[in-house]
Amino acid sequence: GGSMDEAFDVIVLGGGPAGSTVASFVAMAGHRVLLLEKERFPRHQIGESLLPATIHGICSLLGVKEEIERSGFPRKNGGTFRWGKSADPWTFRFTKQANDPYGHAYQVERAKFDDILLRNARRKGVDVREGHETLGMLYEGERVVGVRFRDAEGKERTASARYVADTSGHKSHVAPTVGQRVFSKFFQNVALYGYYEHGKRLPAPNSGNILCAAFPSGWFWYIPLSDTLTSVGAVVAKDAAGRIRESADEAMRSYIDECPIIRDYLSTATRVTEGIYGEYRIRKDYSYCNTRFWAPGVVLVGDAACFIDPVFSSGVHLATYSAMLAARSINTSLLDDELMTEEECFEEYEFRYRREFGKFYQFLIAFYDMNQDESSYFWSARKILNTEERDNDAFVRLVAGISEADEPLFEGGADRFFADRQGFGAYFADVVAGPGAEEKASAAPRPAAAHRPDPVKFDADKFMQGFTSEVAQLQLLALMGERRPKERPLVPNGLVASGDGLHWAVAPE
Ligand code: FAD
Repeated sequence: GGSMDEAFDVIVLGGGPAGSTVASFVAMAGHRVLLLEKERFPRHQIGESLLPATIHGICSLLGVKEEIERSGFPRKNGGTFRWGKSADPWTFRFTKQANDPYGHAYQVERAKFDDILLRNARRKGVDVREGHETLGMLYEGERVVGVRFRDAEGKERTASARYVADTSGHKSHVAPTVGQRVFSKFFQNVALYGYYEHGKRLPAPNSGNILCAAFPSGWFWYIPLSDTLTSVGAVVAKDAAGRIRESADEAMRSYIDECPIIRDYLSTATRVTEGIYGEYRIRKDYSYCNTRFWAPGVVLVGDAACFIDPVFSSGVHLATYSAMLAARSINTSLLDDELMTEEECFEEYEFRYRREFGKFYQFLIAFYDMNQDESSYFWSARKILNTEERDNDAFVRLVAGISEADEPLFEGGADRFFADRQGFGAYFADVVAGPGAEEKASAAPRPAAAHRPDPVKFDADKFMQGFTSEVAQLQLLALMGERRPKERPLVPNGLVASGDGLHWAVAPE
């Protein structure tokens, strides 16, 4: 790096939740970090509905939980859904205990939330530079050794680093240099969203919940961002994109008309037409996963690596959780202590992030499956797309795991993957239908089609335990630090978090 303008231990590309988080955790381990963000904060971003693990896990570990709690964001106790067989909305709560201190999240204006995280990174010693755009990677042989960027004055500069973390989001230019982006065939939607003043609220204690409502052309999100402001988005089939571009306003009005509950909730509302919330925005949220999450000297974190449909509000959780895992891999590799190779550290990262992503993928496929509306184009098309996804080996392989380790295995292709998960959608539908329904569902999984390899019966309990175990671990770390019980590796010979949570450690025998 001698010929470069400046030298750092780590350079982070992008100041969203993934970028602020990885930069902070690396700086907390005592390293010199540069973060380049092309915009000036506060800036608008979508992804406003959070999960508890982000608040009580990551934000707590970052030392920013109290600031977030004081910021006046609406408290989210769970999600309310007009979805599935029931015509009435039903509510999912994060916890069953009334006084659970970890049973809530928040709905956040991302302009404010991301700014809090970025300022916190600065306080942790990260050299944060806004208005700085990354232009490309610098290599020594195959290895990334620095970056080229344009500074706030428009001058091109270079900086060297031992590791570069790409957190530049869904438009990442770095991801294609690390691997290939593979798309889901199932989750290929387009979202149209805007902001409204004085829309209705769900009755307490659900007034801070996200409301998701299926309707013939897709589904709506309805997210309360303050007492009066609401984020409203329609997720529809991607072939509606042309019509939306022609007239967003007309399209939005017709979707609202199609969806009685949203129409009712907005009957008292006016759309915001000024300021950062004053325009309709469109996002094509094709769901994707990169074939590789790291290469020598560089790692993809957050949306840069993978993204999955937003109905479960998993984006910021996956971004910040993956950022913590990546920080461990970077911090451990920077130690040079020969206990673990760089490859082991980053393979652990990739395995764990892919696994967490895969859990949400499975959950979402089942969740869409439970909303069957034969009379609607969008929902009947999901059936065809589901069939296509069953043949989408390339994508499902990335989600089901390509690890050499024995969990989760990808044997028998995408077909087998889905065969093993028969009954999950029905399980969901029955859980929602009421108490006692759970046993009924697992006792009678939907039969697998005859040509599929013999399915392993879907075990919902085991799945749900696996789904929440990482989150529980994260919250234990935030709560107890070094005093928490010893972690077990996810796979034989896998790594575990160090006592301080900032590094990887070899699991005790
Ligand atoms: P980003 O938040 O995209 O941040 C990337 C940053 O990098 C940006 O600030 C950008 O300016 C910067 N950048 C980009 N290129 C460069 C460059 N060349 N140089 C320097 N800086 C650069 N998630 C949820 O948790 N809840 C939700 O309810 C939710 N709803 C969603 C709805 C839709 C329709 C979509 C599409 C997504 C939704 N998400 C949701 C997902 C969420 O938006 C993302 O997962 C999350 O923002 C990812 O964080 P990130 O830090 O990886 O990337």
